[in-house]
Amino acid sequence: MSVQLNEFSDNSASQAAYVDRRGDHMTKKIVIAHLYPSEMNIYGDMGNVITLVKRLEWRGIGAEVRNVEVGQPFNFDECDLIFGGGGQDSGQQLVAADLLRRGNTIRQLAHDTMPMLLICGLYQLFGHGFTLSDGQELQGIEVFAANTVGGSVRMIGNITVDSPFGRLVGFENHSGQTILDRSQEAIGKVIKGFGNNPTSHVEGAITFNAIGTYMHGPVLPKNPAMADHLLLAALTRKYGDSKLSTIDDGLARSAASVANARPQ
Ligand code: GLN
Repeated sequence: MSVQLNEFSDNSASQAAYVDRRGDHMTKKIVIAHLYPSEMNIYGDMGNVITLVKRLEWRGIGAEVRNVEVGQPFNFDECDLIFGGGGQDSGQQLVAADLLRRGNTIRQLAHDTMPMLLICGLYQLFGHGFTLSDGQELQGIEVFAANTVGGSVRMIGNITVDSPFGRLVGFENHSGQTILDRSQEAIGKVIKGFGNNPTSHVEGAITFNAIGTYMHGPVLPKNPAMADHLLLAALTRKYGDSKLSTIDDGLARSAASVANARPQ
């Protein structure tokens, strides 16, 4: 995997194919970069973007979503938070080379504490790389020190994880097995389900404010503490010391407790 592709040179103008400019009139605004919504959006992952936008709006903070599309110039420096969903192996094949071109930029922003949430297929491509079950290798962008290899076991079902954001619930469906380097921090311990692989009993990865996880569902509506961690990190990075007002999360807590009670 020695191919080194150049970054897109046109990083000056935002020309995303889709720009949702909600919140332009508000004093504070968070701009969310949504990676490859056409190819990488499965099991409701888009619900994570809706959750982030709504939790900002409910607090009187503006939100704007800009889609990152294959081959389109995109200025990540104008953004405050990056989100990317999961997808089939075929979806990952479609986006991997494009992501690699943007890799240095994204990795630098991760090290500069920009919050990011990557689910399953894009979590895998944010690591060292993903080797498909047919042996093809997709090089990753090294935000996470983790390697993924496609296996014959499909890890599918409900998942519960103990994490710094409390007990998380989600749904996983992947055959890629992710092994973290010793230096890489996980999100937490798997209570039910598989997580990164069938034997390590840990789930996901965290580097600064970048979170990679196998939890679909979507994960954020049922785990609002995780959503607020990302939003607070984005606001603090952009505006300095920030606070989030309390939201009534009774419905989210009920949904999480129903999901938590489900068998694997
Ligand atoms: N194709 C990957 C795997 O099966 C990712 C699947 C997903 O994003 N749900 O491991």
